[in-house]
Amino acid sequence: MNLNGKNAIITGGSRGIGKEIALILAKNGADIVINYSNNAKKATEVVDMIKDMGRNAYAIKADISKMDEAKKLIKEAYEKFEKIDILVNNAGITRDNLIMRMKEEEWDDVIEVNLKGTFNVSKSIIRKMMKQKSGSIINISSVVGITGNPGQCNYAASKAGIIGFTKSLSKEIGKKNIRVNAIAPGFIQTEMTDNLNEDIKEEYLKNISLGKFGSALDVANAVLFLSSDLSQYITGQTIVVDGGLSV
Ligand code: NAD
Repeated sequence: MNLNGKNAIITGGSRGIGKEIALILAKNGADIVINYSNNAKKATEVVDMIKDMGRNAYAIKADISKMDEAKKLIKEAYEKFEKIDILVNNAGITRDNLIMRMKEEEWDDVIEVNLKGTFNVSKSIIRKMMKQKSGSIINISSVVGITGNPGQCNYAASKAGIIGFTKSLSKEIGKKNIRVNAIAPGFIQTEMTDNLNEDIKEEYLKNISLGKFGSALDVANAVLFLSSDLSQYITGQTIVVDGGLSV
């Protein structure tokens, strides 16, 4: 897929799925801004990997759950690049607990990062993309935003919210030639899922039609498709990448 001449921002791009997205977009010709919240070293490593491919890349620190930092991220990204063609709202966290035990701050933190963060960064870029009359926004939701999951009321609500946000925004800005889509990954092997206990993992595996967990690359490939002109007539959709888990 040809992304030559395109520039992308990936939030939470220093590890896991975000890192893989950054690498695959760069491999296909895009220049990249990696957003990270804390780990400058890891973000710099990804930037260096992208530069080794002969592409431009920058790391910008911002806590996307804060509107002022999201605005700063977009401002700085536009100082690096004349235009941004692709925004991937990937940053996300989990704070799992049954609702009986869930603390208010566990609810708030997850909504603030996953849902409000997606709003903050999208809102901050939208005027620029409307001026450009082009853009592709890709929001990383989750299959549990569709199916629900015990112990994840906060996370599932945030990810279902992202799907509603994606559909609404796609209707608001479609006529400006900006597409907005979501991806709902299933069980993907990253540091986020590494911490789950073996029983839970076994239980998931039983329900995955393809009989294996997904990789960050499986998700990144779907992002690549939605970033490219091959998906030019697709907007407001959620692509499920879950090996059949939700079927
Ligand atoms: P991860 O924990 O490895 O990566 C998440 C990234 O987001 C990290 O780099 C982290 O620093 C960053 N981040 C967190 N809070 C932030 C903030 N306030 N500001 C900026 N960055 C912040 O997890 P992952 O598995 O790579 O997940 C990536 C995305 O995919 C998340 O949105 C997650 O909810 C979603 N997802 C993951 C799975 C899975 O099975 N791993 C399944 C469905 C959806």
